[in-house]
Amino acid sequence: MTETLQFSRHLSDHPASAERRGQILADPGFGNYFSDHTVVVDYKEDQAGIGGWNNARVEPYGPILMDPAAAVLHYGQEIFEGLKAYRHADGSVWTFRPEANAERFNKSAVRLALPELPDGVFVESLRELVAVDQGWIPSGDGAALYLRPFMIATEAFLGVRPAREVSYRVIASPAGNYFGGPLQPVSIWLSTTYARAGHGGTGEAKCGGNYAASLAAQLEAEAHGCKQVLFLDPTNDNAVEELGGMNIFFVFKDGTLVTPELNGNILHGVTRSSVIQLAKDRGLRIQERKITIDEWRNGVAAGEITEIFACGTAAVITPIGELKTAAGDIPSPALAGDSVSMSIRAQLLGIQTGTVEDTHGWLTRL
Ligand code: PMP
Repeated sequence: MTETLQFSRHLSDHPASAERRGQILADPGFGNYFSDHTVVVDYKEDQAGIGGWNNARVEPYGPILMDPAAAVLHYGQEIFEGLKAYRHADGSVWTFRPEANAERFNKSAVRLALPELPDGVFVESLRELVAVDQGWIPSGDGAALYLRPFMIATEAFLGVRPAREVSYRVIASPAGNYFGGPLQPVSIWLSTTYARAGHGGTGEAKCGGNYAASLAAQLEAEAHGCKQVLFLDPTNDNAVEELGGMNIFFVFKDGTLVTPELNGNILHGVTRSSVIQLAKDRGLRIQERKITIDEWRNGVAAGEITEIFACGTAAVITPIGELKTAAGDIPSPALAGDSVSMSIRAQLLGIQTGTVEDTHGWLTRL
């Protein structure tokens, strides 16, 4: 699908002052603050049911005026993406594998019966937003401008069918360390009360409903002093799937990296695929396979599993310090100074921030 769209620009009359922006960028946290502008592209089907994207624009950031009957508010017809813009030492701005996010976005669109974005519009929309909101990219270790493209069903209609009016948008949020403070191993709660996805469901789509469904488990996790939840597939010997917002890897004593296979329930993480490639480059063995909670428990006890880490755009690579479960905790082995997790993390962050050579051509200039 090729269709070129010209973006018009309507700049904000009230951007944040340089002083205010400076205060925010000094300690942005994650997801708390938003840049001055947003990108919007509308989609509408005509009488004959032929849809088209139009009115691509950059406009001031602000509330969305929407009909209370808009389908997204009732049936959750929504998808989103998450990626980052990094400022390199020479001032240039880059993003990481955006075509992978664009592809995943369109796959999510198909699953949620939303229209696909024409080729190139995804990356162009990021470029448009970053062009006007450059000043919002934080600098510093692990800091970046988090970009959040999303698509919502705006048609005012209460029948249950795919909406014929849709809006694509992008917002941007300066981001520091996802978990706050310096990087340290996180505690994970094992949810056995709730599953995140079911076979044939929307597990591998990046849609709001999956995250809404994970929140009760997240509350359980917080009640147990944990920051993330691990979900299992109870229909498959309690196979490990993923965390609420990250994929998971295990490093074995013999140097093999194991991560759950993509079985339709798990998000195809861009970080996951990059970690696999970087590990292969190092000559490490990769297994994308079923790994159960019993193998985790026994593998740690026997000294076979030496590292466990979570990965995703927001948190990059974060070591898992322990898994707390209703049936007893599984503490991870102490992280060695020369750990695989931290070494791959440094390499990945280095590529993203321009200090390590990008041999795979993963960076796109914005
Ligand atoms: N799993 C889930 C459920 C997620 O929300 C995310 C974050 N997008 C990931 C995995 C990691 O994906 P990525 O590396 O593309 O950010």
